[in-house]
Amino acid sequence: MPNATVRTTCVVAGGGPAGMMLAFLLARAGVQIVVLEKHADFLRDFRGDTVHPSTLEMIHELGLLDEFLKLPHQKVERLAGQIGDRHVVISDLTHLPTRCKYIALMPQWDFLNFLAAQGRRYPTFDLRMQAEAVDLIEEGGRIVGLNARTPDGTLTVRSDLVVGADGRHSTVRGKAGLVSDDYGAPMDVLWFRMPRHATDDSETFGHVEPGKMMIMLNRGDYWQCAYVIPKGGIERVHAEGLDAFRGRVLAMSPVLGDRIDQLRSWDDVKLLSVAVDRLRRWWRPGLICIGDAAHAMSPVGGVGINLAVQDAVAAANRLAGPLKAGTMSDADLQAIETRRAFAARFTQRIQLTIQNQVVSRALASTQPMKVPFAVELLAAFPVLRRIPARLLGLGIRPEHVRTPDVLAAC
Ligand SMILES: Cc1cc2nc3c(=O)[nH]c(=O)nc-3n(C[C@H](O)[C@H](O)[C@H](O)COP(=O)(O)OP(=O)(O)OC[C@H]3O[C@@H](n4cnc5c(N)ncnc54)[C@H](O)[C@@H]3O)c2cc1C
Repeated sequence: MPNATVRTTCVVAGGGPAGMMLAFLLARAGVQIVVLEKHADFLRDFRGDTVHPSTLEMIHELGLLDEFLKLPHQKVERLAGQIGDRHVVISDLTHLPTRCKYIALMPQWDFLNFLAAQGRRYPTFDLRMQAEAVDLIEEGGRIVGLNARTPDGTLTVRSDLVVGADGRHSTVRGKAGLVSDDYGAPMDVLWFRMPRHATDDSETFGHVEPGKMMIMLNRGDYWQCAYVIPKGGIERVHAEGLDAFRGRVLAMSPVLGDRIDQLRSWDDVKLLSVAVDRLRRWWRPGLICIGDAAHAMSPVGGVGINLAVQDAVAAANRLAGPLKAGTMSDADLQAIETRRAFAARFTQRIQLTIQNQVVSRALASTQPMKVPFAVELLAAFPVLRRIPARLLGLGIRPEHVRTPDVLAAC
């Protein structure tokens, strides 16, 4: 098979939220960029479907919000939970200081296709699908490019900067020898769809019972369901059989009784393995990791996409000028890590606390669940629901696009 070599300013491995947002912003700022995505399209089973208020705000700042919101989506203004027989609203986003006071639930492939379409408006944007980064090229202690496997043979990309945005199982970070700390997760998630009827409740909510947890996201004509099991518990679930699993689901959501038989085989139920980790150092000369490649996020709170996007914005802000001028230095890479590591560390700490205090306890419990004190406070004082809303909707240290092209337009 023929091999090819291209030369660019920046190559991004991974066309997820982090990689596509960074590629779009850098291309827009006039930086030559190649993005490699190992899959043929963005149409994958599950990629997390949440677009957060801070991301929507940024899209607004770029003048693209009206076009973006034409894509089909559902709005989530409040998040609720059922603990035993108590129903509690946990978070109220309607007071956020943003244009969109809600989380937009949108298939992630629509979000990524939107970013790809925006990127393609710029001649500096080069997205290659079915291109899997497999190796780094190192010269004199510096990363100067990578090799990718494509259907046409090996593609060599030489560049001033390699960005690892290839997610939780990042090849780039492994090949770069970057070391991560693993914080563990007590659960995995079984992910499946159920039809949603017009007469169903419209709320997106979580339900906790002794030994069981399930989340249902309203996706218009279907429910996206996440059934939480103890880490590594899939073999037991399989051994108990599909009927037993259907029964567990119904015990959590009786409303699905008239359609549970649409869960026909284990092929309809995907196992999503949960990991939480963070790199000790996100970069080395010529290379940086962002998004889950730098800090794999737990699904708790559904904030990983937002963090990945915010990393991309911070990286674009810092790098666009130096990459264009050919003056990028290690200090730029360190500055991105310093800025974003705080947000990642803080958010992961909250996720780990919830994993340990709520998820682990619920999954291990055989007694009726007590509503945690913090949740009682949210139930008693609705104004307090603005706090989790801020953490979920905006995150820690929300970013705004400050690339030279945007600043020049101000
Ligand atoms: C069960 C579960 C549920 C979750 N639910 C949510 C949620 O609802 N909301 C939320 O905000 N977050 C959620 N998260 C977290 C969220 O999925 C991640 O934090 C987020 O996707 C990170 O984005 P990313 O761009 O860094 O990586 P990814 O989304 O993982 O994207 C990486 C991309 O790189 C590609 N790739 C991988 N390797 C290579 C390679 N070698 N070469 C080229 N391409 C490659 C992949 O195909 C992929 O497209 C969930 C996580 C889990 C485990």
